[in-house]
Amino acid sequence: MTFPPSASVLPDVKRVLGVFAHPDDVDFGAAGTVATWIAEGLQVGYVLVTRGDAGGFDDTPREAMPALREAEQRAAAAALGIEDIEFLDGYADGTLTPSIELRRDITAAIRRFRPDRILTTSPLRRWERIAGPSHPDHLAVGEATTCAIYPDARNPFAHPDLAAQGLSPWVVREVWYLGGPNPDHLVDVTDAYPAKLAALRRHTSQINHFDVDAVLRQRMGQTALDGGLAEGRLAEAFTVLRTE
Ligand SMILES: [Zn+2]
Repeated sequence: MTFPPSASVLPDVKRVLGVFAHPDDVDFGAAGTVATWIAEGLQVGYVLVTRGDAGGFDDTPREAMPALREAEQRAAAAALGIEDIEFLDGYADGTLTPSIELRRDITAAIRRFRPDRILTTSPLRRWERIAGPSHPDHLAVGEATTCAIYPDARNPFAHPDLAAQGLSPWVVREVWYLGGPNPDHLVDVTDAYPAKLAALRRHTSQINHFDVDAVLRQRMGQTALDGGLAEGRLAEAFTVLRTE
């Protein structure tokens, strides 16, 4: 099972909603691309399913971790100019499945924000690189978000309690998947790299045990080379699909 080749990118996107399992997922994988979208005038919002309560490498007491990581994600988003962030309640880091409850909560977020484009993690596992991108929470959020895009958000008879709250159906037209197998849509984010690094540095509890700048430059430089960009360029890679 794999993705079809990426579609051409829609030319008239105005609103983008990112849906992610953990604080820092969007910043490691896509903050450079998000920065370019914001520079182009797009409105970007995030939904975070958990507060990353099972993450971290420092001596922070575990009970302090959710609030700390929420604050880190809010600061990272603010560094890019994003203030529209919603944290879902009731989901613990490391336990996510594409449940009907998660589909409903993501559907509610889609109907509220009414995005043209969704940015989320791949529901397909990268078998050659299990650690990192293919965390089960990432796969579960990718699957639940895909189910929310179709059919839930557009079907007036799905989750009838949402319609009763005034959240009317909405069609998301495009999805960008992060961390999946063989991503073939490259974004050259060399110019946006300082903004990405500034956002990532807000996730102090997650990055204080390694040289994040060096790791990112190596990884993003390799992504650029693999995609045919010149030596010295930095890139992020996605699969882009139409969902109309
Ligand atoms: Zn994650």
